[in-house]
Amino acid sequence: MRTLNVNTPSHAYPIFIGHNVYQQPQQTLAPYIGKRAAIISNETVAPLYLPRLQAVLDALGCAYFSIILPDGEAHKNSQTLNMIYDGLMQHRAERNTTLIALGGGVIGDMVGFAAATYQRGAPFVQIPTTLLSQVDSSVGGKTAINHPLGKNMIGAFYQPQAVLADLGSLQTLPAREFSAGMAEVIKYALLGDADFLTWLENNMAALMAQQPDVLAQAVYHCCQMKADIVAQDEKEHGIRAHLNLGHTFGHAIEAEMGYGQWLHGEAVAAGMVLACRLSETLGYLKAADTERVIALLQAANLPVAPPRMPLDKWLAHMQHDKKVQDGQMRFVVLRAFGLADIAGQINTTQLQHALQPYLA
Ligand code: NAD
Ligand code: MG
Repeated sequence: MRTLNVNTPSHAYPIFIGHNVYQQPQQTLAPYIGKRAAIISNETVAPLYLPRLQAVLDALGCAYFSIILPDGEAHKNSQTLNMIYDGLMQHRAERNTTLIALGGGVIGDMVGFAAATYQRGAPFVQIPTTLLSQVDSSVGGKTAINHPLGKNMIGAFYQPQAVLADLGSLQTLPAREFSAGMAEVIKYALLGDADFLTWLENNMAALMAQQPDVLAQAVYHCCQMKADIVAQDEKEHGIRAHLNLGHTFGHAIEAEMGYGQWLHGEAVAAGMVLACRLSETLGYLKAADTERVIALLQAANLPVAPPRMPLDKWLAHMQHDKKVQDGQMRFVVLRAFGLADIAGQINTTQLQHALQPYLA
């Protein structure tokens, strides 16, 4: 098991990563939960992983109750959030009752927001069960629900007491979801040191086969990178925005296709190819660099081209992105691998050039 410490200005906490995080609950759980806990999961994950967690809490002498929510991004809304509050109230949860999020990013984001707001803040522990949530959403303290008019629009920055990333739980994850998480892993490789990019190219096959040591190393490295970035910039005033590489284009793809058609990671994969093309347009990357990214994404069974749409549709979608500031679209581009930058002055001609092969 590997342990990583996240130090944000508001709170410091550990992330435990490995195939044996449940075997050492005195270390990984006991210090971070109170005498009572509320386990919040969904209909898909609970049958798979709730009994094991319950057994561990029993052994630790922690009293608990469970709230099981419907599965899916479509339920990441105020109605489902209310189901959490209802359960907490009905079971007379107190301010020191620990909320345990057992599931992927949807559960983590919703439970985190419930914890941030229940009695003005209850402790919570994240047990992410998807690759995406282990390398991305469980780290960094962003919590949210969706509003009918926009994704993640209602939320808070709120850090957990601890994160338990059990790599064994990824074995039941559908292959498409595993690949979608891998898109974010590849994102870290493009943002970070060249060694990790090369390592990923050499180890992608082993990673896709979920070889334990390789998987542990990849998840650890990504969490380390995100933790470093979040420690520097908890509330995204600067460098944290680099984590949005590929996301402005990706959000346009998700919006155009209807959320749920393309998984977020799939849209980010194609979005990163476009971010590379834009970086080429600006004279930063070479075509061969983009080809290298495409090969890596393909090795992870990810899409490398967006659906075709006309330029005005791209523009309309991207102008609605949360990252728009003062009406100006902002793109994360790569000056080189490992050297991201925010380009705020991209004009339509440059965008058209980057998107040319993909326009309808
Ligand atoms: P998800 O939570 O919907 O999980 C994907 C699917 O896999 C679901 O059907 C889920 O029930 C199922 N599942 C989860 N674990 C499983 C397992 N071990 N075995 C079998 N099935 C399993 O999706 P996700 O990709 O984990 O997270 C996406 C969400 O994360 C989005 O809502 C996004 O906004 C959010 N997010 C948040 C942050 C952040 O910083 N807070 C960052 C990135 C993404
Ligand atoms: Mg993302």
